[in-house]
Amino acid sequence: MSKLIVVSNRVSLPHSDQPSAGGLAVALHDALNEIGGVWLGWNGTQVEDGQASVFEHVECGQVEYITCPLQHVHYRKYYCGFANNTLWPAMHDRADLIVFKNDEYEAYQQVNYLFAQKLAQIAEPDDVIWIHDYHFFSMARYCRELGMHNKIGFFLHIPFAPIDMWQMLPRASALIEDLHDYDVIGLQTENDQKNCMQVCTSLLKAMQINAHLISYKSHLTTIKCYPIGIHPDSIQELSIKTDQSVQAMLNKPLAQKTIIGVERIDYSKGLLQRFDALADFLTHYPHYQTQLTALQIACPCRLDIQAYQDLNRSLNQQVERINRQFSRDDWQPIDYHQEVIEHDVLMQVYRAADMCWVTSLRDGMNLVAKEYIAAQNPLDPGVLILSKYAGAAEQMSAALIVDPLDPVDMREALKTAMEMSKAERIQRYQQLIKGLYQFDINDWRNQFLWDLMHNHQLFEHCIKQPIHRTAHIVF
Ligand code: UDP
Repeated sequence: MSKLIVVSNRVSLPHSDQPSAGGLAVALHDALNEIGGVWLGWNGTQVEDGQASVFEHVECGQVEYITCPLQHVHYRKYYCGFANNTLWPAMHDRADLIVFKNDEYEAYQQVNYLFAQKLAQIAEPDDVIWIHDYHFFSMARYCRELGMHNKIGFFLHIPFAPIDMWQMLPRASALIEDLHDYDVIGLQTENDQKNCMQVCTSLLKAMQINAHLISYKSHLTTIKCYPIGIHPDSIQELSIKTDQSVQAMLNKPLAQKTIIGVERIDYSKGLLQRFDALADFLTHYPHYQTQLTALQIACPCRLDIQAYQDLNRSLNQQVERINRQFSRDDWQPIDYHQEVIEHDVLMQVYRAADMCWVTSLRDGMNLVAKEYIAAQNPLDPGVLILSKYAGAAEQMSAALIVDPLDPVDMREALKTAMEMSKAERIQRYQQLIKGLYQFDINDWRNQFLWDLMHNHQLFEHCIKQPIHRTAHIVF
């Protein structure tokens, strides 16, 4: 019987003592657990240069995890280099931070080839392969070169940059050409889908057959948007448990309100702008001093990269400065936690927080926005402030939508959130939660795989035909 093989850079191993702070890991876990399959990728450790990659197999429930370490050189040049110092800033509209080095591009290609080789060893001809994210633009090309004819899909969890960014990116045409060996390319938003279509047709002169289909060198590729979702019911269930560590974290006088922020420390998340807005709010509306605490879960990440070290330093200084400026004996405005909180526990913290802010400058989707809403008490829900630059804003227009680059907009949104009536909170919540049920994580997975397999019979025992399927998908 055919199986599903998922590939992502990092594999989130079961029972790991390191909780994951990334949307991709959380989503793939949820998506795979139910239908089973193989999950292939890096285990997060490093070995000496030149040491052969030894793959480890672990089975847990219906999922088989196949992972290997990376050589130091690949960690430095592929992961910290081309993936996160070239592609990541390019896709997040930070041309100023792009560093391109040819040897890092070569290392990126080598790692794509390494995992393609492993795929060629483990995949049966009728297995369906689903490759995730910007680390693996080129993997399908190597799979084809190794003789694989499987259906191979690609999902990009981050934004797809517009054509002008691709035009300034070295090796852009080669990467886009490699993308055409995928059968389906999935994007988070309509806007990303449009950008991808435009880049394919103008950089490669691929032929557009219809709104979702292009042809290049006689190979047809579907390019479509599949907004990633969550499991609203399981989040609601987790959110009503009461863990003692949550009570300790929310240890505050009753008169205060809490606004929560949860992100990796990444320049795309707009944390500096957010705390500036908080300081501006407290200055402009001084009667709110002592009435509001910003609880920030800030997860350190990619600290081997200069831009991340710089951001980390700037944030620490900024938080210290703002806390020094406003703090009173029993209150300080920012409660800053530089740690990763276990996913299950986080759902309880969301529920206890009166407001949540997601103020990304650029963001593929942003699962925190969706999880916060799913965790709320339907009878007394909190308020979500959401950046117009987060992919989630396309579906969550009932949130308070803000422009994080506009300080006045941010300041006034905080005031509106603080003062919002219960009736308005409930009305907005009802619209938002409805949207989350309309296209959840199962719909995301099922619709993508349906499009990838089209009439593929072998998966029909576990994947229902999605309701949201659009009519014009043809291979
Ligand atoms: N997360 C978590 N613990 C933390 C911080 C984050 O479990 O301490 C999870 C969070 O619940 C969400 C994911 O990590 O599912 C972050 O995804 P998002 O799309 O918001 O951002 P990304 O990091 O993928 O850019």
